[in-house]
Amino acid sequence: IKKVAVFTSGGDSPGMNAAIRSVVRTCAYKNIECVAIYRGYQGMIDGDFKQMNARSVNNIINKGGTILKSARCEEFRTEKGRKKAYDQLKKEGIDAFVVIGGNGSFAGAVKFNREYDFPVMGIPGTIDNDILGTSFTIGFDTAINTVVDVIDKIRDTASSHNRLFFVEVMGRDVGHIALNAGVGAGAEEILIPEQNLGLERLLDSLKRSKKSGKSSSIVIVAEGDKIGKNVFELKEYVEEHLPIYDVRVSVLGHMQRGGNPTCFDRVLASRMGVRAVEALIEGKSNYMVGIRDNKLVLTPIEEAIKAHTEIDMELLRVSDIMTT
Ligand code: ATP
Repeated sequence: IKKVAVFTSGGDSPGMNAAIRSVVRTCAYKNIECVAIYRGYQGMIDGDFKQMNARSVNNIINKGGTILKSARCEEFRTEKGRKKAYDQLKKEGIDAFVVIGGNGSFAGAVKFNREYDFPVMGIPGTIDNDILGTSFTIGFDTAINTVVDVIDKIRDTASSHNRLFFVEVMGRDVGHIALNAGVGAGAEEILIPEQNLGLERLLDSLKRSKKSGKSSSIVIVAEGDKIGKNVFELKEYVEEHLPIYDVRVSVLGHMQRGGNPTCFDRVLASRMGVRAVEALIEGKSNYMVGIRDNKLVLTPIEEAIKAHTEIDMELLRVSDIMTT
């Protein structure tokens, strides 16, 4: 391996910059050339490359988003598009690439690797924490801390006015953000895609908490929750069936993806970047770098994208106990 490319793809997440920095600096340390690709697979197809050195990544470890931009690229889903991408990489003399992204980005890398026997290495960068083969993805810790910060603020106003708040957080397919931030922020109930709590139980729980003397409540709702109602419909439903609460809704949205990465995400990204480059040097390919029991592990990318990680049942139980 003489020349490694690095890029970010799919949804951005805080800590991606720290991962880019780590890949670039590890290449410099190992005397390997490093090329950055802008705008993910689209930039690969367009040949949007930039030669990097250790100084190209100064002052980015603390920044959210990705300096390389991210993109979604339909063309890369086609054989023709991937051929264009391959030709661009060859023209530039690139031997291998490190992709920082989520499931979709990895699916693209697997296809590319199969078609061209091109060495690829994945680093999981997504706030959703939904990738098999790693306990944590880069950006998740920052996202849950952001959500907890905001809920703390909402709690101040909720308790001053005896209000019930439905707070919608990201998570279309998985409830990791909702569950972790919910427990961390002391939410009354947590509605996640993996489990349908049911409207009756929600009403019972709210009734119980009012009776027990709680003056305010916060219910966290993941976007993909299966209760069958969005946060606004939930508000109407509760107002109709349980008129003891003054109900408000807060949809957190994209702020959950932004902000400076936490120390945890920066350290994780730095470790994963080093491992990704070292694995390529060792001749490994088609793996994703993950972390388990605080040790870096390599998982075949094909395995990593097979399914979403399951929710932590233990944490769900803790959440239940905390709401008594
Ligand atoms: P996240 O879901 O966290 O936002 P992601 O990496 O899963 O991140 P996607 O939008 O699913 O984001 O994928 C990013 C890009 O990867 C796509 O725009 C496309 O270019 C490429 N890609 C995704 N799936 C495939 C596939 N099956 N074959 C080829 N390329 C793919």
